[in-house]
Amino acid sequence: MAFTRRSFLAGLAACPFCAAAARAEGAHWTYDDAQHWGAHDEAAKACTLGAEQSPIDLADAVKADIRPPKLGWKPQAFEIVNNGHTIQANAAAGSGVAELGGRKFELKQFHFHTPSEHALGGKRLAMEAHFVHAGDNGDLLVVGSFLVAGAPNKALSALMAAAPKEEGKAALKAPVDASALLPKGKKFFRYEGSLTTPPCSEVVHWNVFAEPVAVAKADIDAFKTLFPMNARPLQPTHRRIVLSGG
Ligand SMILES: [Zn+2]
Repeated sequence: MAFTRRSFLAGLAACPFCAAAARAEGAHWTYDDAQHWGAHDEAAKACTLGAEQSPIDLADAVKADIRPPKLGWKPQAFEIVNNGHTIQANAAAGSGVAELGGRKFELKQFHFHTPSEHALGGKRLAMEAHFVHAGDNGDLLVVGSFLVAGAPNKALSALMAAAPKEEGKAALKAPVDASALLPKGKKFFRYEGSLTTPPCSEVVHWNVFAEPVAVAKADIDAFKTLFPMNARPLQPTHRRIVLSGG
């Protein structure tokens, strides 16, 4: 491929009506088109061809003597972004860490899906939160937690109250403790997988808590009003083994 990304983008600017080209660049994708993410976009080939894709059903996990990553997150007035695919809270640099196997991963952002992306025995729950941490090898450690309707959760209520209704950014008025979106129970699943959005890069150490966290049904409904469905279809496990511990 002779084109660099830069020359490709310059070409796009010169050809503003080239919808097919914009699609090939991965500038636009939708959940309705999730089966074809890798087909139109060279950079997202892993979405179609990868053998370690996410999300998956976590039902057939093998019990192991493992513990969840050690999480240290500072409460803060996160920047809240509606990016057209989800509501995302961006963390300040150096404000959160996940430690696993002697390595440290820095909290970058967390965001939400409905229904949950991971499934338990074929069942998807109301929502799932993903806490994205970056390692220094270009790999990611993502902590997942399931959210279900029940008692209100202060953190989610504060985020949804501030969430822009259209694409854009907002600031929280007061600090939020994101760890309120994690369950008390430590049982969790671990497996190697991918980003669940294009380009579906297979760089994610997934750690998903088993016990769901209660949140207000009104906050789930508020999220669904903005994003009625933003979960990728379940992917084949192939030869991977899912571990469970806690
Ligand atoms: Zn996600």
